[in-house]
Amino acid sequence: MQLDLFDAKRNEIVSAPDYTEFRRRLSESGCRRCPLAAGRTNIVVDRGNPAAPILVIGEGPGEQEDLKGQAFVGKAGQLLDKIMASIGLDTDRHMLIANVVKCRPPENRAPRQDEVDACLPYLQRQIALIKPRIVILLGATSLKHLDPTKRDFSMANEAGRFFVLGDYPGVQFMVLYHPAALLYNARLKPDMWSHVQALRDFLKEKNCWPKDAKAAKA
Ligand code: SF4
Repeated sequence: MQLDLFDAKRNEIVSAPDYTEFRRRLSESGCRRCPLAAGRTNIVVDRGNPAAPILVIGEGPGEQEDLKGQAFVGKAGQLLDKIMASIGLDTDRHMLIANVVKCRPPENRAPRQDEVDACLPYLQRQIALIKPRIVILLGATSLKHLDPTKRDFSMANEAGRFFVLGDYPGVQFMVLYHPAALLYNARLKPDMWSHVQALRDFLKEKNCWPKDAKAAKA
């Protein structure tokens, strides 16, 4: 855990001894480490189950998320719920969903590098406290900020890929299309379907399939 000599508030948040306390400290912090603080209603930490083996990382909160203080509760989130349900997973019970930045970017634009740099320590602390078996990166923004070696790439080549990162030992990563992309481009749906089937097979093969999940469809 990296502390910041000049930011006692951030240090207090990332020093939280467990996830429940981390979540409380961050959501109540009034963090103003980046310009996104100016336009937010709520700091959106997550949605789901911190004890689950799957962590899903999206880009940032949208309008509904900002208003409700919960991740992925708008249209893209509802589609994610359906996609995961198609393989027998419940997004609230079997995964935790978070974002690269915790405050809504204006007009739903992608977060800027300075904003990500300011917020990333919170996501890194989430990963350290949750200790997920697999991290699913939704879309290009999530991929490029978790894997800094990724600069020019096509999601058509990345979606469905499994990989590991040296900064996160013991964690398996996988890339999926962001569900918002499917809302605009229905031609991505067959690929998404085959990728989540691969996710289901991977979880079963690695004994990570939640015991209370529905029987995985073939
Ligand atoms: S996006 Fe992150 S760093 Fe920026 S104000 Fe919100 S919580 Fe703080």
